[in-house]
This record gives sequence, structure tokens and C-alpha cells, in this order.
Amino acid sequence: MLGPSRCRASFYKIESCSIAWRSVLEYQINAQFITPPHRFVPMTDLQELLDQAWHEIYIDSHRAGEIGQRIAEATQSDPASAMHAYGLFHVAFAEVRIGDAGRAREANNRARLAFQECNDARGLLLCDEVDAIGLRRESNYVDAMKVHLAIAARDDVMREDVDIYISHNSRAITHELMGHADDALNYYYRSLEVAERLRSPGPRITAMSNLGGYHHQLFNFEDALHFGEQAFAAVQEVNDPTGLAVSGVELLEVYFALNQFQKAHEMAIFLKDKLSSEGTDVLSHISAPLALGFVGAKDYASAQVLLNRGPSQLIADGDGIAFWAWVQALCYQGQGEFARARELVERTLSERADSDHYDLPYTMMRLYEVAADCSEALDDTAAALAYTKRSRALYEKLVLLGAKARQVALQVRHEVLEAKQAQLAAEHERERLEKLNAALQAQIAETNLLHAQLRELAVRDSLTGLNNRRYLFEAAPSALELSRRRNAPLCVAMLDLDHFKRVNDEHGHQLGDEVLQRFSQLLSERLRRSDIICRYGGEEFVVVMPDVQAHEASIILTSLQGAFARVKVQSVKGELYGLCFSAGVAQFAVDGFSFESLLQVADKCLYHAKNSGRARIDLATGLKPDARQA
Ligand code: GH3
Ligand code: MG
Ligand code: MG
Repeated sequence: MLGPSRCRASFYKIESCSIAWRSVLEYQINAQFITPPHRFVPMTDLQELLDQAWHEIYIDSHRAGEIGQRIAEATQSDPASAMHAYGLFHVAFAEVRIGDAGRAREANNRARLAFQECNDARGLLLCDEVDAIGLRRESNYVDAMKVHLAIAARDDVMREDVDIYISHNSRAITHELMGHADDALNYYYRSLEVAERLRSPGPRITAMSNLGGYHHQLFNFEDALHFGEQAFAAVQEVNDPTGLAVSGVELLEVYFALNQFQKAHEMAIFLKDKLSSEGTDVLSHISAPLALGFVGAKDYASAQVLLNRGPSQLIADGDGIAFWAWVQALCYQGQGEFARARELVERTLSERADSDHYDLPYTMMRLYEVAADCSEALDDTAAALAYTKRSRALYEKLVLLGAKARQVALQVRHEVLEAKQAQLAAEHERERLEKLNAALQAQIAETNLLHAQLRELAVRDSLTGLNNRRYLFEAAPSALELSRRRNAPLCVAMLDLDHFKRVNDEHGHQLGDEVLQRFSQLLSERLRRSDIICRYGGEEFVVVMPDVQAHEASIILTSLQGAFARVKVQSVKGELYGLCFSAGVAQFAVDGFSFESLLQVADKCLYHAKNSGRARIDLATGLKPDARQA
């Protein structure tokens, strides 16, 4: 595939061997940026600065580095803090991409130490990214790739989208420089996909610009045009003259390659006007590609002015000489100076053959093409044929390359789309499960409520709201057990309304119900919360009273009788009052030990009370006076 480092077009690759070229521009553009002096910066401001650094990272790298420096200086007193570490990282990242490799290494080492201190795994991986770029800058692609792979393998570290972007973009560039077109395209496309999720437009512009530039190199002008136009449109949204120059020139060359000479010309004029009004020095670095725009429009005079600046401005790692020679030769050819054009090409070709510079096959093909055309115009058919053959050979090579690039691009786009669909499907599935889970939770809550309600129903009497007999037999034994343990008294009382049948008979069943309710209400009001009160059945009630002796129970129940007697119930036949009840009381440990036996005793007492004329409270101890001493 393509040769390794010395490719001219690679200076379009932001964060690649073209860094040197780009950095020349960026340092000049940003020379006016002076770090203000500062002492104390509050934490909130520091966070804001850090956000700014992340925002600028692919827009104005130099500024991102400056901000990182400010953060690092402001946090010098806290060298183990994450803030200090991230400040240093931004310095390292900016330096390694567009600045000085030594300063990058130094800042990165300090960042790494700080990240280690604060145990920041994400930060440590970012330091590894700086290492990878540093290795690539030294043309040590093999080791750079090892670092890329090691980073990609770390799925145990939570990484932000911008981290993933840095990884993919950087890895793509290393793949590109190693001639792995498939992997390079793959990672460029993946980086674009991540970039679309980021808030800062920088990564997206960089990704599109890189993709456009790479497709251009791969002789796939269709995709080069697509991404070039998108990158150019996006870069105009941000203030980045370097980015504008890079993507504008890229697009201009694509237009020219596609014979869209008018568009190439318009772009040349636009960039010339725009960049000269910016007051930056960018223009002088893109004079040869701008000249191409004027040559295409046959404005040879303007082209020549630009070409007179020579090829040196284009020099990055590649020297741009072949490209300049091609445009200059075209300029001569266009003005009918065929011999001069061919002579320039011949001189350049022989010089290039002696040097170890790598030239893009596309530029070389174009050089041979001019030489062939000029030879033909000079009636030197033999030379024309020879140059055509050489041009043709390169063309065939490039066509293959372009076809491959289109195929890979299609495949990668398909894969990215599939991955997106799979992600969407997974999200759908997760949402569905979440909904299902919520429904299930609601159902469980409802069931629990129903259970509680059922239990309530099972232990409660619906007419009076008191506990029922079932509850009594559940709760009473534990109350007894508690009294036994505490060696405390407890009474079981059985209550029965007197002549209740008469109430029903004389006033109706409904009124009878009301009497039962009023009596129950009285019980609830006058007895303690710790007492167990239950409707035993019909007009019979049982009360379990802990911590109460029989004679105390008698006092309580007598008072209850008074209250019941005062109850007045309205009936159709007038007011019903003077209600009464009888009761029998048994005391725990005195009259019996089990609940059942106490209940039996209380029932007997009640029977006794009824027989003794009703409206009475009979105590078991009263029935069996000697039992008390037992
Ligand atoms: P005593 O003084 O001997 O207890 O006489 P009594 O009439 O109260 O006793 P008896 O056992 O003869 O009658 C109980 C009555 O209670 C009969 C029954 O119709 C009535 N009764 C039972 N449950 C209810 C009820 O839920 N509502 C109404 N209104 N009456 C009920
Ligand atoms: Mg009864
Ligand atoms: Mg009764």
C-alpha cells in the first residue's frame, strides 16, 4: 500500500506525521494567546477550564494545551489531585500532537504520576494514548500499535466517549501509516461514529477531514468529496483558520481531480480572501494547492504569483516539491511553455529518484501525465509514449487502490450501521425488560396489598370492625406467654349482651346491628390498646386484659356497663336506652393456665351472671373463693 511516513497528503491528517506542518501554522495562529498570570483559581472555575480544554482538544489544540497548563499551575499545591493530573494530560496531549515531543513526554510522565496517586485508571489510559502518539511521531509504528491494542483490551476501565474517540482516531492514523488501509478506514469510520455523540464539534470535523483526506489518498474521490464537503461545512461553524485551510485545500484538490475546475477556482478565491482577512500566516503555507485552483481556471497569472513562493511552505515531513512541480508544470503547459514544463518535470523526477522522499503515487502519476502531454505537444512521440506508460502504470495501481477503498468504506459503513441497529435493538430490549420489571413490581405490590387485605378480612369482624374469634385464638396464647414470663396478671373476660333477642324483636335486626356497633365502639374506646378485644360471635365478646387482676377487670367492666347503659339509640319506636350486658372473668394462673381453660371458666362465670339476674360481672375467684389462695 502506501509508503510509511513521508506522504505529502498525510499532512492533512490531523495528528499524524503532518503534525509538524500543522503545528507551524497553529503556533503562528495562536502566538497572540498569552497565558494570564494567576494564583488562586476556585475549584468550580477549574472544572470550567477543564471542560473548556476538552472542548478545544480537536478545535484549537494549542489553546487546549494552554488551558491544561493553567490548570496544572493553579493546582501545583495539590499535585496528587485528579484536577492537576488532567491539566498535565492536556499539556502532554497538545504537545505530543502539535508541539514539542520532549515537553510532551515530561508532562505525560508527571500526569501519569498524579493519576497513579489518585488512582485514576481512565487518566492512566489517556497517558498511554499520549505514549502511542509519541511513538508514532518517532515513526515507531509497531510499538505505537502495541500501545493501541493494549488500550483497546482494557475493557475494565470506564471510559468517556471522547477517550474512545481519541483511541479510534489515533489507531486509525497508525494503521494508515503502516499501510493497513482496511483497518485505517475501519477506525476512521468508528471514530466518526463516536464523534457524532460528542458535544464539541472538533472531533467530528477532524474525523470527516481525516476520512476525506484518506479517501483522497486512496484515489477514492467520491468519498473524499463527500467527507471533504462535510468537513469544510462544519469547520466554518467554529473559529479555526488552520482547520479551514486544511479542509478547504483538501476539497480544492478533490474538485480538481474530478475536473470540477470552477469549484476548485471558487475555493481558491474563497480561501485566499478569507485567510488574508484573518490576518494569519496560514495562506503562505497553502500557496501551491491554491495555485492549482487558479491553474484549473486558466488564471495563470494568479497561479504564478502563488507558485513563486516556491514549495518550501508546504514542507512538513514530506517536502511538497513534487506537488509544487506538478502545479508549476501545469501552469507552464497552460501557457504553451511545453518545453519548460517538461524540463521542470524531468528535473524533478531525477531529483526525486535520488532522494529518499516518498511521493504520493497520485502526484507522480500527474507529473508523468504532464510530461506525456508536453512531449506530445512537442512532437516527441517516443517520450510521450514512455511517460504515458509510466503514468498509466501508476493509474492502474491507483484505480485498484480506489476500488478497494470504496469496497472497504461500504463494508465498514454497513458494519457501523449494523452495530447501531444491534445497539438500538439492545436498547429496545432493555426498555422492554424495564417495563416488564416495573409491571411485575406493581403486581407484587398489589398482591402484597391483597394479601394484607385478605389477612385483615380473615381476622376482622366486618360488622363491628373488632377482631374475630380466629384472631383471638392466634393472639391470646402469646399474650398469656408474655404474662407468664413477666410473672404478671392477665384476665380473660367473656361479655354477653342481655336480652339482645328482644332488641332485635322489638326494634328490628338493623337496630340490633347498630347496638352491636355502638357496644364495640365503647369497648375500643374504653379498653387499652394492649387489650385484645374480639367479637366472639353473635352478641358475645371476649376481652383479654394483660397486667390486670380480676378485681381490676371487674372495675373496668363495671364502668363499661355504666357507659353502655347511657348509650341511646334512635329507633322508629323512639329512643332505646338502658342497655346492659353480663360478663364472666377468669384470671390467668389463678383460674387456669391455658387460654382455653380460662375461656371456659369465664364462660361459666358468665352463665352464672346470667342466672343471677344479668347486668352483672362475675369473677371466677368469686365462684371458687379458695382458688385464689391456690
Ligand atoms: P340473654 O340475655 O340470655 O343473653 O338473652 P339474649 O336474647 O341476648 O340471648 P339469645 O341467645 O337468646 O339471643 C341472641 C340473639 O342475638 C339472637 C340473634 O338473633 C341475635 N344476634 C346474633 N347475631 C346478631 C347480629 O349480628 N345482628 C343482630 N341484629 N342480632 C344478632
Ligand atoms: Mg348469647
Ligand atoms: Mg345475650
